[in-house]
Amino acid sequence: MRKKVVAGNWKMNLGFEEAEELIEELIDLLEKEDIKPDVIICPPYPYLEMASDYAQEARFKVGAQNICPFESGAYTGEVSASMLSSMEVTHCIIGHSERRKYFGEDDKMLTAKVNMALIHGITPIFCVGESLPERESEKHFEIVRRQVRHGLFHLDTNEFAKVIIAYEPVWAIGTGITASPAQAAEMHAYIRTLIVERYGEAPAEETIILYGGSCTSKNAAELFAQPGVDGGLVGGASLIADEFVAICKQA
Ligand code: PEP
Repeated sequence: MRKKVVAGNWKMNLGFEEAEELIEELIDLLEKEDIKPDVIICPPYPYLEMASDYAQEARFKVGAQNICPFESGAYTGEVSASMLSSMEVTHCIIGHSERRKYFGEDDKMLTAKVNMALIHGITPIFCVGESLPERESEKHFEIVRRQVRHGLFHLDTNEFAKVIIAYEPVWAIGTGITASPAQAAEMHAYIRTLIVERYGEAPAEETIILYGGSCTSKNAAELFAQPGVDGGLVGGASLIADEFVAICKQA
């Protein structure tokens, strides 16, 4: 039985005090509610240690939004996997469309990031998803297939079992336009068929696949109820404590 997961991607938002306030609000709300999924918050790098300190006593885990593909050394501005794991960071978003688009992250780099995360015991939350023109020209399956294969299918079965996949159609991210439940279910099922072909039925059944893209407390229940949708990767709505917790409650 797959675990449900809801992860919050804070992106490059909030000052330090605002971040701490949000964490404190989340702790209060998560304590009061009967929350079933694993909850992960992914604040910006400078707040990770603070978030991890809180997480020791809280109902959430902490993820990073990025990771360096190299082990250590002369890589100015980068943060290594070992630094993240030394701060008890358990997860890392890899392959987010904003990093692919604004920072030129290609399949080769993403493969290296996935490897580095796994070496250091960090669970990759590997994002895939097509752009609007790609969907309109009916290339969405082809695009997602390429992203999943190139980013993850070099892993052996044991390594692959440690990965979470997030299907995030680029046209739904931060736009207020959500994939329909049927579109989400269709792509999640497709990704699972790819996993069956590469790793077999059992690993495909075990793989956690999240939906991301304008997820809110209004649409989460229907999305999360779709077969094969194991929770969500939430951007904007994860910056509002009661909204994020309301989403978590629906997983
Ligand atoms: C995201 O950035 O991963 C995301 C899903 O954003 P939003 O929920 O704001 O669309």
